[in-house]
Amino acid sequence: MGDRAKLKSSFNSAVNVRTDELERISRDILDHPESGYREIRTAKIVADWFRASGLEVQTAVAKTGVIGTYDTGRPGPHIAVMGELDSLIVPEHAHADSYTGAAHACGHHAQIGSMLSVAAGLVEKSVKINLIGKVSFMATPAEEYIEFEYRESLLADGEIEFFGGKQEFIKLGFFDDVDIAMLTHTGGETAGTLGVGGSNNGMIGKTVQFIGKAAHAGGSPHLGVNALNAAHLALAAIHAQRDTFRDADTVRVHPIITKGGSVVNSVPADVRMETYVRASNVPAILKASSKVDQALRAGALATGASVRISTNPGYLPAQYDERLTKIYRHNAASLIGDDNIIELTHSTGCTDVGDVSQIISTIQPTANATSGNGHGIDYLVDNYDLAVIKAGKAMGLTVIDLLCDDGAKGKHIAGVFKAPMKIDEYLDRMRSFRSDVTYEE
Ligand SMILES: [Zn+2]
Repeated sequence: MGDRAKLKSSFNSAVNVRTDELERISRDILDHPESGYREIRTAKIVADWFRASGLEVQTAVAKTGVIGTYDTGRPGPHIAVMGELDSLIVPEHAHADSYTGAAHACGHHAQIGSMLSVAAGLVEKSVKINLIGKVSFMATPAEEYIEFEYRESLLADGEIEFFGGKQEFIKLGFFDDVDIAMLTHTGGETAGTLGVGGSNNGMIGKTVQFIGKAAHAGGSPHLGVNALNAAHLALAAIHAQRDTFRDADTVRVHPIITKGGSVVNSVPADVRMETYVRASNVPAILKASSKVDQALRAGALATGASVRISTNPGYLPAQYDERLTKIYRHNAASLIGDDNIIELTHSTGCTDVGDVSQIISTIQPTANATSGNGHGIDYLVDNYDLAVIKAGKAMGLTVIDLLCDDGAKGKHIAGVFKAPMKIDEYLDRMRSFRSDVTYEE
């Protein structure tokens, strides 16, 4: 086995000669955003790049996902390095698709770049011959939990079961023999830093339909049942619950109305809402979810409307492995200095990396390389060297630590990690969240 410092320096040099290409790919994805389970062009870029780099490639995994396999040919730990293919939909964003409104307002284009940077360094021959085990580069679809109607149609057609891409990867068995997973998300903390640790809320998603009765809105509203008024009262009733949520549970409920009626001179008879119910732990999600259902039913009851509440499994809370974080932190510090590594706190946002973190040792560091508000019109990656190159190097150097010296560190991390649940328990848990109930008036 070669000297570890030499291995790491060969890895860094191999990435250095491809920095322009890696940044260019990220910017190209930025300019061609595609939302979840629609990432056709983005997936092709990744698949072509994997092929050209000599990885074995699987495409159309969970509809649009791609896996590139890096196999040393020697048995050992199996690591997943992930990047998310999908964009959000933010039509006013500077890099939005003018037709679909899709936009990378969450920086996922840079994640793909950082994932490819890891591969660019590891494929270097002098690195590969000194490692054991396998790395699966997973370009996962649909991390943003959006477009419920579209995903419900995919569900009805049997194309997917879960709204999140990594969840589908888990269901399809692609995590069955994976020991360790990592992904770097962009972030907006102190510029120039890499963030480690932290945790994320989990959530469930709801699609809600209030069904009233149409009538002439001016001439005979007394003959109608106003579904918009039912929704209005339900929103007020949800707000009335807020001080009953415990601070420690970090509950977030934020409904939107996706259809407010049909025409202005007819009493609204079909009003639709979507909401998340988020919290730091599953019991709190379920408790808040039942309060939201009560509020929705109250709005319907008060107006004489019916309400259909469809609840879909969302994402589980994320908890990152401290032992793995320690190894990553050391490598990140070797690139940007220990003073530029920051400890993350709990985030009330959610991710399907949370689901992965419930079954295997996982980290999701952040590359603080952005300006503007996450998910807003002004969110931009403005430090590609950090978000793509250094973020990729920090993960790649961590992979080297895990897979060199006969994989001693990788085996240790995987061996001592206590997964909160096994994969079949995870799938049962997720399926238990699903319900579809109509409360008739
Ligand atoms: Zn994101």
